[in-house]
Amino acid sequence: MLGAGFGGLELSTMLAEELGDQVEVTLIDRNDSFAFGYSKLDMMFRGVSLESVSLPYSKVVKPGVTLVREEIRSIDAESRSVETDSGTLEGDVMVIALGADYDLEATPGLAEHGTEFYSFAGARDAAGPVASFSSGHAVVGVCGAPFKCPPAPSECALMLSDELTRRGVRGDCEITLTMPLGSPVPPSPETSAALMSEFEARGITFRGGLRPVRLEPGLVIYEDGTELPFDLFLGIPKHRAPDVVIDSGITEHGYVPVEPATLKTKFEGVYAVGDVANAEVPKAGVFAEGAARVVAKRVIAQVTGGDAPPPFDGKASCYIEFGEERIARVDIDFLSGPERTGEFNAPSQELRQEKSDFGSSRRARWFGL
Ligand SMILES: Cc1cc2nc3c(=O)[nH]c(=O)nc-3n(C[C@H](O)[C@H](O)[C@H](O)COP(=O)(O)OP(=O)(O)OC[C@H]3O[C@@H](n4cnc5c(N)ncnc54)[C@H](O)[C@@H]3O)c2cc1C
Repeated sequence: MLGAGFGGLELSTMLAEELGDQVEVTLIDRNDSFAFGYSKLDMMFRGVSLESVSLPYSKVVKPGVTLVREEIRSIDAESRSVETDSGTLEGDVMVIALGADYDLEATPGLAEHGTEFYSFAGARDAAGPVASFSSGHAVVGVCGAPFKCPPAPSECALMLSDELTRRGVRGDCEITLTMPLGSPVPPSPETSAALMSEFEARGITFRGGLRPVRLEPGLVIYEDGTELPFDLFLGIPKHRAPDVVIDSGITEHGYVPVEPATLKTKFEGVYAVGDVANAEVPKAGVFAEGAARVVAKRVIAQVTGGDAPPPFDGKASCYIEFGEERIARVDIDFLSGPERTGEFNAPSQELRQEKSDFGSSRRARWFGL
């Protein structure tokens, strides 16, 4: 099992629950802990430290599961084996769940003249410039699509507006959100409309269809020639599969192609789930989890001789920070019906509790905390 993020943790938990010691699961990750992606926003706007949101892998104690803390250096999908610093590991089944990496160099000047908040280090580093920003123009800019958690850039713009209001400087600041997509959350017109009216109420400018090609000091230049001056640039870097996955020759158009219904790659016994795969669903933890469940059920059926599980339905719910401590929810269904749908649930305090329960249920299930 390559990668102990949303996908890897859910898959190993299901296998441990259903099969226990009947199978040997080796879960490989280079980090010593996991944290939820949404904690990055808490680090930027709520003064939360990375240490306080990190869940240590040492707490993952499950029958049949061994956690190996190693960097994966190469992947051979034909032989279902990987090289790490301490040697070769191979299996009867291999599941690639290594997530998506960021390609800062794809947007020259982003690292030098802007900030990015999609990595934990980036979110920690962006917290300072956010806290000291008190006048001028802030641009939240998405540098490429697809990108993780499609509502997150909108959440960032709304939380920034709240933060500036709290400090009494909102009137001295302008906020613009730019995206290559035409609307904030394209699969859910209802969610996009609700976000647009929230932006309007708070004086946030949304500009869709814009992709930055480079940043200069205080200036972002877009593909169509548009130029926006900025005092603070909060960037979402272009995404791609990790180098080790690309170098193994199993990607197409930047990601691992899979059959969406089964998550199978073209290699026998090799699956890919989550952000690293192109399963025709958004890049979000909840979809990585759903895909991992389908693969787990397939492996369980293989071991126990049961029937193959139903296909991956591409259904999941994402929580959206709407500002003023309210949370909305969008229920996405990408694969079960003839059309992609995204049903919007209006922001409320109750949904804040639901989001908090989402986090604590995973903490308990995966880490026993
Ligand atoms: C600001 C922000 C907010 C978000 N909010 C939400 C949200 O509210 N809900 C939601 O569902 N999703 C959210 N997401 C998205 C979510 O974090 C990701 O989509 C999710 O983590 C993907 O899960 P995954 O299992 O595919 O990969 P990951 O969780 O990224 O896990 C991949 C693992 O592979 C490991 N790895 C990578 N390369 C190697 C290597 N060479 N050797 C060893 N280990 C390696 C990494 O250390 C990592 O632990 C958010 C993301 C961001 C940036």
